[in-house]
Amino acid sequence: MQATSKTKKTLNLFLANPRGFCAGVERAIAIVERALEKFGPPIYIKHEIVHNKYVVESLQAKGAVFVDDIAEIPQGAITIYSAHGVSKQVEYDSEKKAAQIFDATCPLVKKVHNRVVSLAKEHKEIILIGHAGHPEVEGTSGRIEQKVILIENKEQAKNIQVTNPENLAYTTQTTLSIDDTKEIIDILKSKFPKINEPQTADICYATQNRQNAVKNLVNKVDLLLVIGSKNSSNSNRLRDIGIENNIKSYLISGKEEIELAWFNNCTNIAITAGASAPENLVDELINYLKINFLVNITQINGTKENIIFNLPKELR
Ligand code: SF4
Repeated sequence: MQATSKTKKTLNLFLANPRGFCAGVERAIAIVERALEKFGPPIYIKHEIVHNKYVVESLQAKGAVFVDDIAEIPQGAITIYSAHGVSKQVEYDSEKKAAQIFDATCPLVKKVHNRVVSLAKEHKEIILIGHAGHPEVEGTSGRIEQKVILIENKEQAKNIQVTNPENLAYTTQTTLSIDDTKEIIDILKSKFPKINEPQTADICYATQNRQNAVKNLVNKVDLLLVIGSKNSSNSNRLRDIGIENNIKSYLISGKEEIELAWFNNCTNIAITAGASAPENLVDELINYLKINFLVNITQINGTKENIIFNLPKELR
């Protein structure tokens, strides 16, 4: 039953900034949309273009077909690689089939790829900090023939066995927790003081800015709502910040997953969205809360982002 305005409880909503789409996601979605306009459907995409159910379903409705295996792509199809990047093997397999390929790999993931390739040329042993099974990790590991050592947590960093401690380098997935990764890196650096480090952090600006925005909010609120899909790494890390700060924290795909009981003992609510979640889902969530509560909305100032990544020439 809906609450009447007399009985409605008041919620204070604090909107984190920045939130939602990053430059890499904007570019990846634009590549699919432009390819659909230019070539017509179907357009085949290796993996979900970005990890967001709403985005994926919207593009499917326009004729995008998402596949996990290049074998599912018909001969002569227009093919796109997702923002997470792909391995050399995927490139090799798709080049044999596709009429044309567009690479929507985020330029910041590409930067990690390039570093891994140049480290391999220097015959370094390479440690990749990241989540097993994540497509970005599979893509980055698959850029080179040598085996990459994957480290997911502090325990694994403590117990790591390497061939030559003098000849090591590390790199990271772009969407990890800044704090957890720092702890892992500190362990590696204390075990292997000569380990080669990236010149600038591999965790991308968008992941860092969204995590910092949530960290600035957690001491003001009783509940954190993160809009993002369950398979979105950066969205999960935003939810983790709330949990680590002992506040109720939920990762939701959209307003449909809200349970009104969550708000029983909560008045101050932080809202953010992962880098692959569109702003209209935030608007829908707020409108849904307005139906059930009286709401005060505060936009929290945060780092301004003005990064834009160019589209491939053929799609500009
Ligand atoms: Fe690129 Fe970071 Fe966005 Fe991933 S989250 S697409 S690495 S900018």
